[in-house]
Amino acid sequence: MNASGWVVALLLILLVGIAWFSWVRFEGEMPELEGPEALVVGTSGAQLDIAASDWDSGLRSVRVTIVPGEAAEDGEEGEAPAERVLVDESFPGNLLSGSLRKEHSVSLPLDAKSLADVESPATLRISVRDWSWRGGFGGNETLRLVPLTIDVDPPRIAVHSGLTYVRQGGSGSVAYWLSEETARDGVRVGDIDFRGYPLPGGKPNERIALFAIPIDADPDAPVRVFAEDAAGNTNEAGWSLVVKAHSQPTGRVRLSHNFMQMVVPRLAPAGASAEPAAAFHDINTRLRADNEKTIRKIIAESAAEPLFSGGLRQLSGSKVTSRFGERRTYYAEDEPVSEAVHYGYDLASFSAAPVTAAAGGRVLHADDLGIYGNCVILDHGLGLTTLYGHLSRIDVKVGDRVEKDERLGLTGATGLAGGDHLHFAVLVGDTYVDPLEWWDAKWVETHVASNLPQAR
Ligand SMILES: [Zn+2]
Repeated sequence: MNASGWVVALLLILLVGIAWFSWVRFEGEMPELEGPEALVVGTSGAQLDIAASDWDSGLRSVRVTIVPGEAAEDGEEGEAPAERVLVDESFPGNLLSGSLRKEHSVSLPLDAKSLADVESPATLRISVRDWSWRGGFGGNETLRLVPLTIDVDPPRIAVHSGLTYVRQGGSGSVAYWLSEETARDGVRVGDIDFRGYPLPGGKPNERIALFAIPIDADPDAPVRVFAEDAAGNTNEAGWSLVVKAHSQPTGRVRLSHNFMQMVVPRLAPAGASAEPAAAFHDINTRLRADNEKTIRKIIAESAAEPLFSGGLRQLSGSKVTSRFGERRTYYAEDEPVSEAVHYGYDLASFSAAPVTAAAGGRVLHADDLGIYGNCVILDHGLGLTTLYGHLSRIDVKVGDRVEKDERLGLTGATGLAGGDHLHFAVLVGDTYVDPLEWWDAKWVETHVASNLPQAR
């Protein structure tokens, strides 16, 4: 090859090189951006977390600004709106080699005070650029417009219910109005929350909550209606409420030799002692706590409207053998071996007596449930549920709608039971309450239905 041939060859190589380099530098891979879809800043502030990355030419800039008004695709070049810069970072690099900075994250606390002059709603404009030659050498830009709401007004609460009497271990209801839609509202008793629901037949933002004073809680614990909006602004309101203390009865339960030999080994959880008294204690504490946790999960799906009307029905022709709230001590061979609070009523009838729904509702559980044996749980709406334990047979399945007095199964002695009986329990929210009030149609009329316009 002569000299001019070499020049041509070199030029060709150079051209191909430049073409390849340009093609690389013109990469169209957009920078990646992780960040919020929407941001709400309340009195307690909010956190803005952004993660940007670009694995080709590297990051050039991350810029976050607040622009007035609701998110609108930008593009129309007009008068640039007054913007507030929150983040403006650029990373060194050049158009030949890009930047070694491939990742960057921003974690910025936003407090409501510093944004006091921003009119809500506004838009958070997050822009991430890389070192590509695209965009007129300005780089690829990933742009996200995030709706920004600044809300420092707590929901206002007006309680509609008047003087309310409730006793320890008992239930109550309260109707109230909220100034806005909330993320959470209801009644707070000490540190226990009872959910609020739309008031059936009420106006928008009219609410009702069933609540309870736990039998073993401090009767002086504050009872307040609470509300929290999406921005995390909270408010509370009290009303005229009288809580009457109620003492818990005590009881002794004798565990027969037969019970210790037959029932205990069947229920003993994995790892339980082989010694019957210790195994019983394990069932009565560890398995019981486990079962209670399961029950709380099951009843979390209570309906937002009442499925019950009037009082609950007690098992027909039954005799009460143990009351609500009894502090029990269990004895084996005259030795105390364990303790528990009895959160239901034990109702004895004849063997394999029909068990019926205490009120209209929907079946949430129809299966074995540890100490409760074959167990049916019904939802009656507004957080009111009933539990039927120790059944010998179950006649319903999960999801079934049942009418009051419809048969659920037959009594038995499955689970932790010494003989054929029904364990009947009522829950309001996550709290066991005395069924006695709910069995009394007059009590339900004056304490619950009086707050339900639909039921009046
Ligand atoms: Zn019981």
